[in-house]
Amino acid sequence: MKIRFLGTGTSQGIPVIGSEHPVCLSNDTKDKRLRVSVLVEWDEFKYVIDCGPDFRQQMLRANCTKINGIVFTHEHADHTAGLDDIRPFYFRQGDIPFYAHKRVLGELTKRFDYIFTSKDKYPGVPSVIQHEIKNEPFTLGNIEVMPINGYHHKLQVFGFRFAEFAYLTDMKTVATEEREKLKGVKVLVINALRETEHISHFNLQEALEFIEDVNPERAYLTHISHFLGFHEDVQKKLPKNVFLAYDNLQIAL
Ligand SMILES: [Zn+2]
Repeated sequence: MKIRFLGTGTSQGIPVIGSEHPVCLSNDTKDKRLRVSVLVEWDEFKYVIDCGPDFRQQMLRANCTKINGIVFTHEHADHTAGLDDIRPFYFRQGDIPFYAHKRVLGELTKRFDYIFTSKDKYPGVPSVIQHEIKNEPFTLGNIEVMPINGYHHKLQVFGFRFAEFAYLTDMKTVATEEREKLKGVKVLVINALRETEHISHFNLQEALEFIEDVNPERAYLTHISHFLGFHEDVQKKLPKNVFLAYDNLQIAL
C-alpha cells in the first residue's frame, strides 16, 4: 500500500491569505500546506480521502489520472469544496463512487444539487454513485475498510482503517471502543492542529497521547495550523516514531 499526503494543512491552508506570521512567510516547502487530503493506493486501486478546495491542484501535482472513488470524513468545506473538479475523472471514467455517512451525503446533495440531481442535468455536469458508510466495515476495491467513529466538537466524523494503515483527521474525541479498532496498525495518521487547546481538534499533546495509546510503529501528524510552528523545529521535538507530515510526502507499507 502506498500513501501520498495531498494536503496537510488546516482549513485555511498555509500560508493563510494576508498573514504575516513567520510560518506563513517561510520559504521551506514543508511549511506550505494545502487543505488536508490523502491518496491511498494498492494493487490497481486508488482512493482519495476528502475532496477539499485544493483537489484540482492536488490531482495535478500527484499526476493522478484515475481514481476509484472518494471517501469522506465529514462535510466541512475544507474537506468537500473541491467536488466540482471531479469532472475530468467523470469525463474519462463515468460516474464517480462516493463513500460517506448518510448525513454527509445529504449535505453534499444540498450544496452540489446540480451534481446529485438526476433530471435536466446541464451537459458536462458530473455524476456520482452514492455509497452510505455506517459504523461497520465496508469494501473498497478488494479490501475491507473499518470506519473509526469520532467527534469534531459535536460533529460526528469518520476515520478509516485500511489493513495496517489508519487515517483520522478532525478528531477531538474518540471513544475507547473506537480506539480499540486501531490496535495493531503499523502506520497511524492523526490530526494535530497546534500547541494550544482547540474546541474541535486535537492539539499536539492530545495527538501524542492518542498515538501512545494506539501504539503504532509509526505515526504522522496532519491538519496542521501555522500556529504549530516551523516544520523543521516541530519535527525535532517529536518522539522517535512520530513525524510531522508534509505535502507530497509518500510512504509505503
Ligand atoms: Zn478540517
